[in-house]
Amino acid sequence: MAKYFDVIIVGAGPAGSMAALKLARAGLNVCMLERGQHPGAKNMFGGLLHNTPVLNEMLPSFWERAPLERYVYKKVLAFMTPDSAVSLTFENGNFEQPPYNGCTVFRPAFDSWLAGEAVKEGALLLCDCTAEDLIRKNGQISGVTVKGREGELRGNIVIAADGVMSFMAEKAGLRRDFRPGDLGVGIKLLLGLPEDTINERFHLVRDEGADISFLGTTGGLCGGSFLYTNRESISVGMVVHLDSLKASGQAPYDVLDELLEHPQVKKLIKGAVPLEYSAHLIPEGGIKSMPHVYTGGMMVAGDAAGLCYTNGINLEGINLAMTSGVLAAETAIEAIEAGDYSARMLSSYKKKLDGSFIIKDMKTFKNAVGMMRLERLSRTYPQLLTDILEKVYRVEGTPRSKLLRLARKEALKKIGLKGLVSDGIKIGRSLL
Ligand SMILES: Cc1cc2nc3c(=O)[nH]c(=O)nc-3n(C[C@H](O)[C@H](O)[C@H](O)COP(=O)(O)OP(=O)(O)OC[C@H]3O[C@@H](n4cnc5c(N)ncnc54)[C@H](O)[C@@H]3O)c2cc1C
Repeated sequence: MAKYFDVIIVGAGPAGSMAALKLARAGLNVCMLERGQHPGAKNMFGGLLHNTPVLNEMLPSFWERAPLERYVYKKVLAFMTPDSAVSLTFENGNFEQPPYNGCTVFRPAFDSWLAGEAVKEGALLLCDCTAEDLIRKNGQISGVTVKGREGELRGNIVIAADGVMSFMAEKAGLRRDFRPGDLGVGIKLLLGLPEDTINERFHLVRDEGADISFLGTTGGLCGGSFLYTNRESISVGMVVHLDSLKASGQAPYDVLDELLEHPQVKKLIKGAVPLEYSAHLIPEGGIKSMPHVYTGGMMVAGDAAGLCYTNGINLEGINLAMTSGVLAAETAIEAIEAGDYSARMLSSYKKKLDGSFIIKDMKTFKNAVGMMRLERLSRTYPQLLTDILEKVYRVEGTPRSKLLRLARKEALKKIGLKGLVSDGIKIGRSLL
């Protein structure tokens, strides 16, 4: 196999498929390689497809056709200790209206659908096809070698949308070695439950869905846990820093058990049937760990470019991936029109990213990376909150303190003034 394409895309995840869709619509000859047997076969995530303007622009009324599970109108943030929970619930009628703020999806179904939309527009999708190395010509990248199909594909531009470990970015010399703290590991258990039980248990009707974030259920590891409702199943899991997991010596599934055994979570998953375990890495280093995103003949999009962040409340990746895929495709279209695939020409991709919400949000929450590594956030603060509330609600026949005084006394006892000031600065700089 030796073929020539305008653009070769490595990876048929959300970043790659959106890039392929945009390029195919522009009439370009585009080939997308996917190492899985079908798009999404190797992919997992928590479960929330965040809507993003490019999705509705590229695929108007996508929610009428895409394989979506439920639209998320209920958001819950729960601070947990081994025996208590403090929850903040936000239910918003606006999230129930199309184009919906976010929907739960299964990646094998969603990724296959999205790639199929690109194929309908003329993109060539080669599955079970792993890009192994880059081909260079005159100092620029001009194609990839392919494992399993014994050959090479040549093209004017390569878009690396090959996910968090991006061997393509590494081969191009765009990414340094990963450092501790650059990566998190996500573990997820899919549990089957009848639709009516889910609706009853989570107080949902019709297609409504819930997204619950838990703090304090990661066995003291830095990170957080999640629960998403699908139509007839729920996804329960956690994302923890890889170095914190390694240092603890715990196995990921043991940590997940702590969440599943929590009395509050147990009630929610009672009677559920385990369907599938999965694990995946996630970029967690924020803007400081981003690789260079372009070189002569190549651009990097989505997780491969480290475009994913959490501020402790939102975890966004899929929307950043889809948007960056479209921006890389727009840059490729301009480069092909100009007949110039040099690094200088492709540098406009970086400018487009910088001007988009992607880099702006990653900059806004750049300090959240450090905040999420605060060990006290995953254990001491949830405990502090529940201890204060227990004292507020408990009736003991002894004189009560005013709320602020009670909170200050408990916080000083558990964390101390120095810890409170330093955490306050970190949390304040991250979120306020
Ligand atoms: C546990 C967990 C929970 C998450 N929860 C959420 C969430 O709720 N909401 C959210 O927005 N984001 C979430 N994310 C992040 C989100 O999953 C990613 O940001 C998103 O999938 C990135 O899309 P992508 O297309 O860049 O990469 P990917 O989805 O990783 O796709 C890359 C594709 O490239 C293919 N590939 C890799 N190497 C090669 C190769 N050499 N040749 C050919 N093909 C190759 C892979 O098989 C894959 O299909 C979560 C991530 C994890 C791990």
